[in-house]
Amino acid sequence: MCQTDPEASPGYRGMSLILVEADRTGVSTTDVGAKMGIRMMHTAEVTFKDVRVPSSNLIGKENKGFYQVLEFFDESRILIAAQALGTAQGAFDRALAYIKSREQFGRKIAQFQVNQHKLADMATKIEMARLMTYKAAWNFDQGRIDPKLTSMAKMAAARAAVEVCDEAIQLLGGYGYMQEYEVERFARDAKITELYEGTREIQKNTIASALLGKLK
Ligand SMILES: Cc1cc2nc3c(=O)[nH]c(=O)nc-3n(C[C@H](O)[C@H](O)[C@H](O)COP(=O)(O)OP(=O)(O)OC[C@H]3O[C@@H](n4cnc5c(N)ncnc54)[C@H](O)[C@@H]3O)c2cc1C
Repeated sequence: MCQTDPEASPGYRGMSLILVEADRTGVSTTDVGAKMGIRMMHTAEVTFKDVRVPSSNLIGKENKGFYQVLEFFDESRILIAAQALGTAQGAFDRALAYIKSREQFGRKIAQFQVNQHKLADMATKIEMARLMTYKAAWNFDQGRIDPKLTSMAKMAAARAAVEVCDEAIQLLGGYGYMQEYEVERFARDAKITELYEGTREIQKNTIASALLGKLK
């Protein structure tokens, strides 16, 4: 996204989306280094220095790039909601299997009501996240754009992932902290869904502005 009209006020009204091939002169990338989670994926900072491209590389309309990106978010945030949902489900599945097999104090730890309640809360959060994610995806498939619904789904699924993964570690006890049992990785992977494609706070801004409309 490039500032194509430096005079535009506010600035976002003068931005355009431009395709830049990775081998263009002036494009460079720097790995940002070790991350808390999603370590299977490299993350790099991309720098553009005096890069030139033909005007045919313009995507969409000139100076409408910011609005086009917002539309892109209407789809991509649903994908992040789905990512969060899958992460939560993965941690839940492992915790469920574990408490049904682990014995302490002469019985399966799944027999302790406190652990049953944890499971019930986790499953409920996942179900709520699933319903919202599916609704947002279904709505998008109908060709409709609803930024409020999309942000709600992303925010709810991401929070569910963080909370469910944390509880999964708790249910596995000390093993939950060890890499061998995977739930610690799920917990580290979950957090990014509350950050990228707009933080939790930015989702709330989107939801609130849809609820309030233009304030006079
Ligand atoms: C692993 C990883 C991969 C990423 N991949 C991409 C990518 O592919 N493409 C890309 O473009 N970006 C990517 N990002 C960047 C990511 O989208 C941003 O880090 C994220 O949107 C938050 O922006 P920021 O880091 O500048 O935080 P800041 O904007 O500095 O925010 C810091 C804190 O202040 C809060 N805050 C900021 N502004 C407001 C406001 N107006 N109202 C309320 N609270 C506010 C935030 O919610 C947050 O809690 C990636 C980041 C990471 C960590």
